[in-house]
Amino acid sequence: MIAAASLPGRVHVVGAGLAGLAASVALADHGHAVTLYDSGPQAGGRCRSFVDPELGVRIDNGNHLLLSGNQAASAYIGRIGALDTFERPTEAAIPFIDIRTGERWTVRPGKGRVPWWVLRAARRVPGTRARDYIEVLRLRRAAPADTVAGLLAPDSVLFHRLWQPLAVAALNTAVEEASARLFWRVLVETIGRGAASCRPMLARDGLSESLVDPALSLLSRRGAEIRLGSRLRALGFADGRVSELLFEHNALRLRHEDSVVLAVPAAIAARIVPGLTVPDDYAPIVNAHFRCPLNSSGPPGAPLFAGIIGGTAEWVFRKREVVSVTVSAADRIVGCPADDLRELLWRDLTLALALPAAPTPPARIVKERRATFRATPAQETRRPAAATAWPNLHLAGDYVDTGLPATIEGAIRSGFAAATRVHQRRGRASAANIGPAPRTPTEDCQRALP
Ligand SMILES: Cc1cc2nc3c(=O)[nH]c(=O)nc-3n(C[C@H](O)[C@H](O)[C@H](O)COP(=O)(O)OP(=O)(O)OC[C@H]3O[C@@H](n4cnc5c(N)ncnc54)[C@H](O)[C@@H]3O)c2cc1C
Repeated sequence: MIAAASLPGRVHVVGAGLAGLAASVALADHGHAVTLYDSGPQAGGRCRSFVDPELGVRIDNGNHLLLSGNQAASAYIGRIGALDTFERPTEAAIPFIDIRTGERWTVRPGKGRVPWWVLRAARRVPGTRARDYIEVLRLRRAAPADTVAGLLAPDSVLFHRLWQPLAVAALNTAVEEASARLFWRVLVETIGRGAASCRPMLARDGLSESLVDPALSLLSRRGAEIRLGSRLRALGFADGRVSELLFEHNALRLRHEDSVVLAVPAAIAARIVPGLTVPDDYAPIVNAHFRCPLNSSGPPGAPLFAGIIGGTAEWVFRKREVVSVTVSAADRIVGCPADDLRELLWRDLTLALALPAAPTPPARIVKERRATFRATPAQETRRPAAATAWPNLHLAGDYVDTGLPATIEGAIRSGFAAATRVHQRRGRASAANIGPAPRTPTEDCQRALP
């Protein structure tokens, strides 16, 4: 639905990361007057691009991989008209390179939900047997306290070459402490649905160009107000509702029919909302962006992205003249000097892509120390519902209880869910969800509305 703002009241969305953007876009598309605030000078939050002055090129803060099975993200991208800004290989293929042995293989899930592909040796991870894959079904019955390494055999080849890299990337948490339930959820929505849900989607020019700027343009076209550089300090409460937004430099009194979607990171939300419990343990992600002497198509056979096994680097992504490396759950290296990381990660890259070892090209190391909450069973219990004790205050963000780890998909899903709650509370109770229907615990949060 596309409508000019026509419903009474205004929705104040605080936080212009993907959760806040998704909420704003869905609300503006359904006739709500929206004001979107962010404390920073740029929207996008943890998912953004910038020009690095030393490299002289535009880079992303970190490589972000989406899969076609990320339904809320796909719906959001469609809604903001940005589908064409993604590299979308037609084949569902995840390449891997083992830099210790030199082996290369590609995981290609089959068309259907039944994974017949594991019966064919050529399509399996090298060194694994078809029956090894059955073990993953143990995750299905995972108890809340179970970890990935606790349920799967951590010494097996399959674990080392497939489950571990996927789990660490998706959960940003070491497998010894990562929630088995969350990993199962990720698998069900991607590999579990077959090839159609496993096609990679990579922002061609940059994360901002694909996920942020088109949303801001759409919001402007819909008449939404966008106020960057507006830091919310506190909320005022009166008569059981949020009555005031107290920004660093001004205060805004709300009308009775106004609503607030608070889409700031967990730690900030906990400071602003009285009594809110949120995840309080965070895991770092380190990215190294090399301005690389490759031509635009890279060295012969260099994939658009690939998993690296057996080194410090875990994933490599190629974009124009930049080759980037990602290390998730990077506690062991986040404290190392940038120069050391540059050498360490370049070494892995030369082995993976058969590049000359010297000289090491100029690089920018980006350390996101609080990249996501750590997806452990203990942190899971700290995730709040979208609903709050105040009927006009709704939470959104990757830390909200979406049933998914902290990902783009989770953030967007939470934004759509918060928008749906606002929409339904404001006299549109019969309206359907205004984002794709959540099929996760958020749905339960919605049913539990006061
Ligand atoms: C390096 C890195 C790599 C990642 N890789 C992937 C990946 O491959 N795939 C994937 O799916 N996910 C990935 N993620 C996770 C993904 O980026 C996040 O889950 C998602 O961007 C979170 O969005 P959000 O809107 O919940 O929060 P945020 O992006 O943190 O947005 C919150 C916004 O609130 C603003 N704000 C903060 N305080 C205030 C205040 N007081 N007043 C007003 N505004 C405020 C911030 O400026 C920010 O813009 C990665 C994250 C990082 C850091």
